Amino acid sequence: MIIRALARIAPNLILIEENIIMKNNIPAELTKSINSLAKLPGVGRVSAKRAVLHMLQDKTLIANLVESLKALDENITTCQVCGNIATSDQCDICLSEERDSNILCVVEGVSQLWAMESAESFSGKYFVLNGLLNALEGKGPDEIGITKLIKLVQENTISEVILAVSASVDGQTTTHVIAESLQTCHNVKVTSLAKGIPVGAGLDYMDSGTLFLALKNRNSL
Ligand SMILES: [Zn+2]
Repeated sequence: MIIRALARIAPNLILIEENIIMKNNIPAELTKSINSLAKLPGVGRVSAKRAVLHMLQDKTLIANLVESLKALDENITTCQVCGNIATSDQCDICLSEERDSNILCVVEGVSQLWAMESAESFSGKYFVLNGLLNALEGKGPDEIGITKLIKLVQENTISEVILAVSASVDGQTTTHVIAESLQTCHNVKVTSLAKGIPVGAGLDYMDSGTLFLALKNRNSL
């Protein structure tokens, strides 16, 4: 309604896919590229427009981007075992014989797997969920991979499953459902990452929920 009202007030504006772009005979190719980039997470229309205009100043950027995206599309796939990204049926982590197959760390996405790997403190293997449980978004146990995870644990020798899922409401629901489902797997220890005060942070900056968990999970020195 606001967009229509604006269009009436300023007739030099045209409507393109619910967005207003100044009528300057913008070529369709440009609008299409801006719309495609604006669909990416964290990229708004302003950033998309700037990026496209910047690339037009140096077309080698466009060529490099096209080439890398084509390689991404042709060569990158999903690991059939853990859900990590891979260049073949199995990712490097699943294929590695140096990693401990008895310990499985469950993360909600590839980005979280990368975060765990950057800490260089975990030498087990992973299972990558397709996000978190969310009934409103239609994401149930099958959709996010919990069913596949339980089958993997049942069919392999796994002694511990670490649930490294975020502490959000959806994350807590997902952790609870996975922990319950894993009760059917005997001799499997189910753990979750400790929650508490971040390294280098002061107590006076902590919210009450974080302080409660930090106190509850306190360690002996
Ligand atoms: Zn894998």
